[in-house]
Amino acid sequence: MSVLVVGTVAFDTIETPSGSDKTLGGSAMYASAAASFFAPAQLIGVVGDDFEAQHLRFFERLGVGLQGLERRPGKTFHWAGRYSADFSNRETLATDLNVLADYSPKLPDKLRDAEILMLANIHPQQQIEALSQARMPRLVALDTMNLWIDTCRDDLQRALKQVDLLILNDEEARQLAQTPQLVKAGEALLKMGPRRVVVKKGEHGVLCFSEEGSFGFPAYPVADVVDPTGAGDCFAGAMLGCLASERALDESAYRRAMVYGTVLGSFVVEGLGPEKLRSLTRKEIETRRKELLQFAAAPNF
Ligand code: AMP
Repeated sequence: MSVLVVGTVAFDTIETPSGSDKTLGGSAMYASAAASFFAPAQLIGVVGDDFEAQHLRFFERLGVGLQGLERRPGKTFHWAGRYSADFSNRETLATDLNVLADYSPKLPDKLRDAEILMLANIHPQQQIEALSQARMPRLVALDTMNLWIDTCRDDLQRALKQVDLLILNDEEARQLAQTPQLVKAGEALLKMGPRRVVVKKGEHGVLCFSEEGSFGFPAYPVADVVDPTGAGDCFAGAMLGCLASERALDESAYRRAMVYGTVLGSFVVEGLGPEKLRSLTRKEIETRRKELLQFAAAPNF
């Protein structure tokens, strides 16, 4: 199966305690790049005329399909964020929509049959537009953020009715479910439509809620975090890429996929932007997966 990712492609300005840097960014960039390690991945998004050949090469080297990447006159979406000294908080300094402002995702005909559709973080209306063009996806996943929960909850709830898997972080889960209790939030989110809800808790791991019960897994203990941007998107992309490589989408497939999601999330934070993904190998992924299972005291999993 293949993964079709809809979301943002961006230039990010990242401020960390060690300085400020510009890098390639965007939810769909991270998610499609991470998915590509496990299954054929395609990206749907928009960039401006400032998006150069070197940036396209990043995707080409990973084998991410760009048939659905539009180029428009104007500037590529730009996001700027600043991390606190311990990386536990992130402040958004700028969100310049640029070519994203009036973007309406278009799925080329050939891509409408994708089995797995990932609606990565982008305006919920744009997520709904993309979803309406997919023919018969076997699995639809959606990621979102606090901005959309604050500004267009109705659109988001409409989208949620049509998805199988919701992936979001703990703060967003509490905000969307309107309860400080995370377990209650998981249950409330399941009632909004998705069959499964995955709550990312950064360095504290991940929780999964479904009718089959709940499941938790720790994060890999990264010794040297450089830039946490994209960890959540890489988690989601890897998870879906992994599911795309499975025969049956059963409980154990979801659990395996969450472990691989955790592994990819742990790699991306070790470099600025998507730097780590440029040279990452499947062998390194497998080695870290084994280390993570040992760390989680789940060696036979
Ligand atoms: P994460 O660290 O997983 O939350 O993802 C960070 C990425 O999300 C960055 O590369 C940004 O370019 C992208 N991003 C930031 N704000 C938005 C937004 N409003 N809509 C879509 N993507 C965004």
